[in-house]
Amino acid sequence: MQSVGSDPARLIAYRGGEAHVEGVALSRIAAEIGTPTFVYSRSALVETYQRFARAVDGMNATICYAVKANGNLAVVNTFAGLGAGADVVSIGEMKRAIQAGIPAGRIVFSGVGKTDEEMRSALAQGILQFNIESPDELNALSRIAVAAGKRASVALRVNPDVDAKTHEKITTGKKGNKFGIDIAHAPAMAAKAARLPGIAFDGLAIHIGSQLTSLDPYRHAFKRLADLTRELRGQGIVIERLDLGGGIGIAYQTDGAQGPTIALDDYAQVAAETVGNLGCKLVFEPGRSLVGNAGLLLARVVRVKDGEDRRFVILDAAMNDLVRPAMYGAHHAIKPVRQPPAGTVESPVDVVGPICESSDLFAAQRALPPVLADELLVLLSCGAYGFVMASTYNMRPLAAEVMVEGDRFAVVRPRQSFEDMLGTDRLPDWQASDLPEARSRGAA
Ligand SMILES: *Cc1c(COP(=O)(O)O)cnc(C)c1O
Repeated sequence: MQSVGSDPARLIAYRGGEAHVEGVALSRIAAEIGTPTFVYSRSALVETYQRFARAVDGMNATICYAVKANGNLAVVNTFAGLGAGADVVSIGEMKRAIQAGIPAGRIVFSGVGKTDEEMRSALAQGILQFNIESPDELNALSRIAVAAGKRASVALRVNPDVDAKTHEKITTGKKGNKFGIDIAHAPAMAAKAARLPGIAFDGLAIHIGSQLTSLDPYRHAFKRLADLTRELRGQGIVIERLDLGGGIGIAYQTDGAQGPTIALDDYAQVAAETVGNLGCKLVFEPGRSLVGNAGLLLARVVRVKDGEDRRFVILDAAMNDLVRPAMYGAHHAIKPVRQPPAGTVESPVDVVGPICESSDLFAAQRALPPVLADELLVLLSCGAYGFVMASTYNMRPLAAEVMVEGDRFAVVRPRQSFEDMLGTDRLPDWQASDLPEARSRGAA
């Protein structure tokens, strides 16, 4: 039984004393592109996608990659080439999916706050389905569709009130979360959706959270979805499609220290047992599980500093590049690029970034082999919710992104330049003459 991304360290292999991703030495990427840099393995992306596809084969399913996990064009295009659809949560993501080659007819639009403009734009593109999360949104979409002379394909996202047993910030299917329609209200709303002139009601959707490591919440949620499907059908409402969401967790700890992750075949089996015999088309929306362990963040040690009671390893990567540790207390495995000699003794250090926040801490008291300034380290499991959550806090340019395949690599997003970062802001015209640059231009 294969489990998804069961060991984050599998992305790298030491050869000749140096960490490689596929056939490319990470020191080569650092030398040519600099750091911090996100590095993705195309072979790993293809492998995880194909594993997912194999697990749900024969279930009449569309795999709609959740673009928010990693929206790089080269990543989305890789999945497009394998036949994926997309789950998008903004019109920007829809544009990215289409740009990357995913047909509009395979795009699902999720999210609690779709604006009228976003709905108009997605409707004009002819997307597969809107996942609707409130009565008001349903009415708005119907109105927009009628005005455009169209009917919008709609699934109702229900909140099944199950505890996904994951981090509180990424649980989405509990009562009290902002997501979905309370399952008790779903029948009335489905009946209404089936009558609205601009709506082609065709199904139900759920998404109960992210980084799930147990199948029980899925089993409960899928059962509730199946019960609701039968109830609605009993009222004469047609349900053609069930969208089961995403959320499958990956391993962030190496060597299985985190405990079990979800095996894909078991997940598919739970889906088959609960909703498989309803004759519905299925949609899966995996994000993290497809990309998380296919990417890493390559960083350089700026300095090692001995504090009062601990040693700090200060990287040139920071919370603006990878916010998950600061935001969720997330664990990322850290490995040196230069292979430590056998028998090297590890000792605990705090691995931090240079940002002026104490939360700019990647790992507290993490056992690492001795590291020196200028050495390269990698933070593993950075393919999902890494670059996409980056910011320029502390006026730090957005990191570069690199794709590796075999012995070659390519920059798939250049590091942001200082010109780009500094050139975006404007002064009000009554202030413009105060800039040294404008003064010199005026003098010329
Ligand atoms: C975020 C999200 C996903 C993907 O979640 P993962 O945990 O990355 O698999 C799928 N569907 C919806 C609606 C989402 O918001």
